[in-house]
Amino acid sequence: MALAAAVQNALSSSSMIRKMFEEGTLLKKQHGADKVFDFSLGNPDIDPPAAFHEVLVKLSEEDAKGSHGYMANAGFSQVREALAKKISREQNVNIDGSSVIMAAGAAGGLNTVFKAICNAGDEIIVTRPFFVEYRAYAANHGAKLIEVDALENFDLDLSAIGAALSEKTACVLINSPNNPTGKIYSASLLTGLAELLEEHGKKTGRKPYLVSDEPYREIAYNVTVPPFLSCYSQSIVVSSYSKSLSLPGERIGYIAVNPAVEDKDNLIAGFIYCARVLGFVNAPALMQRIVARLTEERVDVSIYARRRDAFMKVLDEAGIEYAVPEGAFYLFCKVPERKSGERAGDAEFVEHLKKYLILGVPGSGFGKSGWLRFAYCIDEKIISASAPAFKLAMENW
Ligand code: PLP
Repeated sequence: MALAAAVQNALSSSSMIRKMFEEGTLLKKQHGADKVFDFSLGNPDIDPPAAFHEVLVKLSEEDAKGSHGYMANAGFSQVREALAKKISREQNVNIDGSSVIMAAGAAGGLNTVFKAICNAGDEIIVTRPFFVEYRAYAANHGAKLIEVDALENFDLDLSAIGAALSEKTACVLINSPNNPTGKIYSASLLTGLAELLEEHGKKTGRKPYLVSDEPYREIAYNVTVPPFLSCYSQSIVVSSYSKSLSLPGERIGYIAVNPAVEDKDNLIAGFIYCARVLGFVNAPALMQRIVARLTEERVDVSIYARRRDAFMKVLDEAGIEYAVPEGAFYLFCKVPERKSGERAGDAEFVEHLKKYLILGVPGSGFGKSGWLRFAYCIDEKIISASAPAFKLAMENW
């Protein structure tokens, strides 16, 4: 049986991150896991907070009757209420549970939102570089991803976004703290973007949604990520506990909307319907109960902060330029010039690093060639131990 053409195409141009993961597995078999500096995958290795295990054990002991059954597709009402309190604080809004629905991770939440708001041929504007799965998520729902470049410092380029807006724009999608750059967008930039969308709405009669993908909100280094929901009435936030509680395998997250969003009840009803027919049905029941009790918990971000500092030191010593990450756990680095003065591509540099058992992902994988991404969800000792390999790789570049 042949695969559908679109899926076959997707497999052939398969994600560079996955490709690096497979190559990393092979290299580790050949050289031993401790000899390979694998910075390819953003899979959090820090344990969830101790409180997670405590609640997990407590709930499993209780195992209350009916606790594994279906519930309303939006999630348990007490869970939605508990999260609404936390989201209200973080996002500078006053929402209750009716503005929140539980989702199967940020990926599930984004697919739910896109299905609910995009007509066939509609456009989703995103800033490059971006999390590469967005292309597939847009295509899943017949929408087209319109890619505009970030400014040189990786901030949003409001004039480029303005120029890309059209009557087909269903939403502008942002991600802060950003994967792969670690950038956090300032409050004034968000206000500027909101004004742009308001104006566009007045001119065309279609006010685009502003969707913020925020699974890294709680992984920030000495900065508070500015509230997003309060900056624009048509705003939707999608988040998860994949990074903040290190629970990516548990598929738990949420969607929340500005309480003043137009036709709110209908929009939420649309999300609920879409989550159901996309096959998520509801977010995992046990995890819903757990995250509702852990609204004050998060992983120890100081571990990521120390790794970030250790990694920046390694890169400084090797002479590799990077964007200093304000949040998330990635270092986005510029492909260095060759000693010969020749300019080389990101895939070429990634291949070169592999000879020194260093694995990263080419920036082209995120829509930005000439750059590469290293993930530091990896022991600080391994990061520091990679210094000689980076130095040697640079000497021979
Ligand atoms: N959005 C971004 C920017 C990500 O980096 C990821 C995962 O790495 C996701 C969404 C998906 O997150 P989740 O595992 O919660 O679905």
